[in-house]
Amino acid sequence: MPAQPLLIATRNAHKTDEIRQMLGAGYTVEDLNVRADWPDIAETALTFLGNAKLKALGISAIYDGLVLSDDSGLEVDALEGAPGVFSARFAGEKATDAENRALLLGKMCGVTVRSARFRCVMVLARGETVLGSFSGAVEGRILEEERGDHGFGYDSLFVPEGFDKTFAELPAATKNLLSHRARALEQVLAFLGNAAAG
Ligand code: IMP
Repeated sequence: MPAQPLLIATRNAHKTDEIRQMLGAGYTVEDLNVRADWPDIAETALTFLGNAKLKALGISAIYDGLVLSDDSGLEVDALEGAPGVFSARFAGEKATDAENRALLLGKMCGVTVRSARFRCVMVLARGETVLGSFSGAVEGRILEEERGDHGFGYDSLFVPEGFDKTFAELPAATKNLLSHRARALEQVLAFLGNAAAG
């Protein structure tokens, strides 16, 4: 069977790389970095699902094919769920990952409750219609200093439950087995598999 084209509605190449690695050879995965002239979709919703829908529907309005969006972030219990949907812009609209991590470390200075989770919501769309929405989460804790140099975002501060290494220290293959993104994508694959079988 020929590989199924799938456009990821993101310019975050790290997300795309993880999704591409997890999907394997059955899918030809591209993202918006090959469509430089396409507009950025404003993430104006206050929930992961809301923003994932905005991105999937916005891109499916201008792309004739299957679109998958990923809205994700880190929820820290001691910060009442922040940075949440604002994870990419925690330290400001154009903040770098390093600036966001520095702000998080500052806010967590002296805080003893370190529990947190990554959450990911994915939306599949085609022809401006939502085909399905899927979510995944991974529980863990926030360190007091960065460790590791793989990954992106808050990976070097997050130790998943049951491990003693951060996502930035663990091999990518391990992160891709247990991450919030892996858990959402597993459901996407089941959905697509069922749709193909039906
Ligand atoms: P979005 O593009 O609005 O979905 O923002 C996602 C942001 O959440 C990223 O820029 C990271 O800061 C954070 N994030 C989401 N998933 C991960 C992950 O797997 N590792 C580390 N940080 C992540």
